[in-house]
Amino acid sequence: MHQRAGSRNVIELHGSMWRMRCQTHGVFEDMGETYRHHTCPHCNAWLRPDITWFGDAMNDQVMKAADDVVSRCDLFVAIGTSAIVWPAAGFPELARDYGAWCVEINPEATELSSLYHETIRLPASEALRQHPFTTILHTLGGTTKQD
Ligand SMILES: [Zn+2]
Repeated sequence: MHQRAGSRNVIELHGSMWRMRCQTHGVFEDMGETYRHHTCPHCNAWLRPDITWFGDAMNDQVMKAADDVVSRCDLFVAIGTSAIVWPAAGFPELARDYGAWCVEINPEATELSSLYHETIRLPASEALRQHPFTTILHTLGGTTKQD
């Protein structure tokens, strides 16, 4: 979804439904919206979506990339998350520990709401239209340059 909206450098923490992979031979090319292959051309095993299901191990490289980004960000915005699924639920505290301004957008409070500098109790579609994120980023950038 983010890539289709034009976002670059997206870290897919839980993989992508648009890729298929063989348990033995790894990930195949992005299949787009249509799965052209249902079995691995190397071993003929059934392919599965390249996503992390409950019980699957997280991809260490993806987690490291996410930790790196979260620990270096100036603004951390959590949108519509339950804040109960780990390890992603640890990102707000990590961001805050490294000095990010943290904003939660969620109509409901979560267990982690107290970690945020700012909470917005609106649906994401309304909050993102109304919130002055550009102003906050500009302000944070000015603060960073003085440090
Ligand atoms: Zn295979």
